[in-house]
Amino acid sequence: MPDQVCCVCGDPGVSMIGRRWFCEKHFQSAKRERPHTWRTSILLVVGLVVFVGIVYALDLVLKPALTGTGLILAGVLLALVPAFIWLVFFYFQDRLEPEPKGYILGVFLLGAILASAVGIPLVDNFFHVSNWIFTDTAATILGSILVVGFIQEFLKYAAVRYSVYPSAEFDEATDGVIYATAAGLGYATVLNIQFVIANGGVALGSSVIRMVVVALAQASFAGITGYFLGRAKFEKKAWWWMPAGLTLAAVGNGLFNWLRGIIVQRGISLTAASTNPWWGLVLAAVVAIITLGMILWLIRRNIRTALAEK
Ligand SMILES: [Zn+2]
Repeated sequence: MPDQVCCVCGDPGVSMIGRRWFCEKHFQSAKRERPHTWRTSILLVVGLVVFVGIVYALDLVLKPALTGTGLILAGVLLALVPAFIWLVFFYFQDRLEPEPKGYILGVFLLGAILASAVGIPLVDNFFHVSNWIFTDTAATILGSILVVGFIQEFLKYAAVRYSVYPSAEFDEATDGVIYATAAGLGYATVLNIQFVIANGGVALGSSVIRMVVVALAQASFAGITGYFLGRAKFEKKAWWWMPAGLTLAAVGNGLFNWLRGIIVQRGISLTAASTNPWWGLVLAAVVAIITLGMILWLIRRNIRTALAEK
């Protein structure tokens, strides 16, 4: 029976979950629920908000007199911090069931490379998104979903699908979320660095809010793609499964950008012409917790259902 081989490593399969065969070792890993992942996600969101608060307060109190290259360098350093915080949290959470750090870093870099080599040139130089996306509401929503959303989510998907996904290191449903988050943070880091450089340096206090919003959003929507990737590897799925996952992530991504634009501009009070970036941070934190919470809950439920049906 050629089909009875482990879907992770190709050894003879001994057990089945979700119509896929697993060897004994990978049967054990496929059943793991990784309860720590949820705690790490909450800690990450809290950690990023605290980071924003610290930088904002320091900027307010110290008023660093940075200009030119110094200001750009400070901005670029700040842009690297969200991904660094995630990696540190991940490292501590992951000590029990370690994921190879080289793969995590590799996927992060791949997300960053695809963003700078493909994503940003497509959005800026090919579609010239900034010229038309804010002309009216329909352009904002459709452009955010169909152009920006799909390009970003597809590239983050590609960073996982064509690297670690076929390997035996991708041996748990949660791995999809972990690797996709790494790709999302790579993408976010490049977007934030590009923002700093394009503006020739930025006001550190207010732009750190924006940076964390971008990091949280890119990580959350990549998480959706990662969930679909994880199930695609360990269950037999129809041809529409992955396109549906990417579409969901792209729609979430696009709607988030549209909504953020509205609440940052108007605030909840709807007072005219007051922009408040803090509302964007609140929105991003809530979206990240809800999205990641739902994904991890679905994975857990799915593992339990599959084992009960076995
Ligand atoms: Zn195996």
